[in-house]
Amino acid sequence: MPSIRSVCVYCASSERTSVIYHDAASRLGRHLAGEGLAVVYGGGRSGSMGRVAGAALAAGGQVTGVMPRFMTDLEWCHTSLTKLHIVDDMHQRKRLMLDLADAVVALPGGCGTLEELFEVISWKRLGLFLGPIVIVNVNGFYEPCLELLERTITEGFMDTKHGIMWSVVTEPEEVAAAIRCAVPWPTEARSFAVLR
Ligand code: AMP
Repeated sequence: MPSIRSVCVYCASSERTSVIYHDAASRLGRHLAGEGLAVVYGGGRSGSMGRVAGAALAAGGQVTGVMPRFMTDLEWCHTSLTKLHIVDDMHQRKRLMLDLADAVVALPGGCGTLEELFEVISWKRLGLFLGPIVIVNVNGFYEPCLELLERTITEGFMDTKHGIMWSVVTEPEEVAAAIRCAVPWPTEARSFAVLR
């Protein structure tokens, strides 16, 4: 596998969740910085997003945010990032986040996080993104989602081969090892994307 230098983190903007999720976000930021992995994320300052960025920066890590202009106009952005890219819209944002990252990690989150996670899985199936995708199943949050993903395979919407596109850990500190152990994904993924 090509060397992994930067990791895109998808996570929640909410301040209203249990401290369990905010702690996990801080632990992930610290862990990635400690492993020498740069963070790419949505650039937000609230919720888990702010905690990942703050902890990574405090631990000496590099953090790049990618935010659409309308969110910066609303002052949703973190103000101390290593770099902040301002883009036109959400589509550009998600595209650039993946262009800048070698791997993806998803913490628990709301519809924004889930959308991003499902998008990158879908892109990987189509060979548009080839890096590791690690789901951090904090507090069992992702159980229903993992069950649904499994069902896409048992019901024939995806192939068993697609089940290795993502891996699951329970602790943020397991992420770097999971990234390094991820099964390489073939560039010819498109050849088995459609089930006949
Ligand atoms: P959610 O999980 O629904 O809170 O959405 C979080 C994801 O959606 C982030 O990864 C961002 O890409 C985007 N997003 C939603 N709300 C915000 C916000 N207030 N600040 C920054 N990004 C946000």
